Amino acid sequence: PNLVNQIAAGEVIERPASVVKELLENSIDAGAKRVELTIQGGGSELIRISDDGCGIADAQMPLAVTSHATSKLPDDEMLFHVGTLGFRGEALASIASVSQMMIRSRPADADIGSELNVRGGVIEGPAPCGCPTGTVIEVKNLFFNTPVRHKFLKTTQTERGHITEAFTRLALANPNVHFVYRQGEKLLHDLPPTVRWADRIAAFFGAEIAESLIPVHSDDSAIGIDGFVCDPSVSRGNNRMQYLFLNGRHIRDRSLQHALGEAYRGMLMVGRQPICFLRLTMPPSMIDVNVHPTKQEVRFTDGGRVYSRLLQTLRHHFLTSNL
Ligand code: ADP
Ligand code: MG
Repeated sequence: PNLVNQIAAGEVIERPASVVKELLENSIDAGAKRVELTIQGGGSELIRISDDGCGIADAQMPLAVTSHATSKLPDDEMLFHVGTLGFRGEALASIASVSQMMIRSRPADADIGSELNVRGGVIEGPAPCGCPTGTVIEVKNLFFNTPVRHKFLKTTQTERGHITEAFTRLALANPNVHFVYRQGEKLLHDLPPTVRWADRIAAFFGAEIAESLIPVHSDDSAIGIDGFVCDPSVSRGNNRMQYLFLNGRHIRDRSLQHALGEAYRGMLMVGRQPICFLRLTMPPSMIDVNVHPTKQEVRFTDGGRVYSRLLQTLRHHFLTSNL
């Protein structure tokens, strides 16, 4: 079974940033209002996440690190039909099969917490321990037992960059949650909860971006669009600052990026890419079940409709703002 988990891990856990993404999503799913992330080095030494979410009951602890044990859903068909990010129940099992993991957790209604240790998939515990309400997960020595994977890790700086990106996406998608991010002793972000999305965007990208945000809004169809595009005078040489969220999750979508490019046609210098922060909402029936376990790619049942809705909305905003 551990080999199976290690193979599954290869699909879901490519690098330390994948661990960070899965653990942060679990904290959000657990209803956390405060989430703290600490990494050492490039994350393969240590990733530590603590949250004040619903916690895991003592009896459920071993189950949480067992493949396909999800407390969230009856079947995969339900993807995007509910509000949770996880649905496959394989992330913790996969991570635990290729690392040394410690989970400490306490639900609000339990008098005492419990601790579980997993080393390369071998479970020890749970044992009672004192801890605050919520969950702390430490992942140490990622890929210690899969040397090939370990070898493919990039430099500390590159792996950190990927972690920071994963953190940024989750923190942008959940402005109502307090996020703290540390690299070793260094505090990188302390983001208080906010109802104004622009505040969260500004906290990441600074005044220049914040001052050039143009609000975009459309809810006159099944497809809701809400967020900001940037003034064409503020652009980038790549498309990495095009943040799209669908029903609360970060997505990448070539077709929607193309629509964005079309909306800016003639307004940008050659080789420049627009900046945007857009949240899309639509009924789950308009979204196909995902194709990849990391859930970044989606397929729309009517891609053309989503494309033109976005293009029309952006064009309308450019026509009505005095650019
Ligand atoms: P999934 O998120 O797809 O259900 P995971 O492997 O990521 O699968 O997590 C397994 C289970 O462990 C979850 O369904 C949840 O019950 C529990 N769990 C994991 N992380 C947390 C957390 N931070 N707080 C509360 N429960 C958690
Ligand atoms: Mg999960």
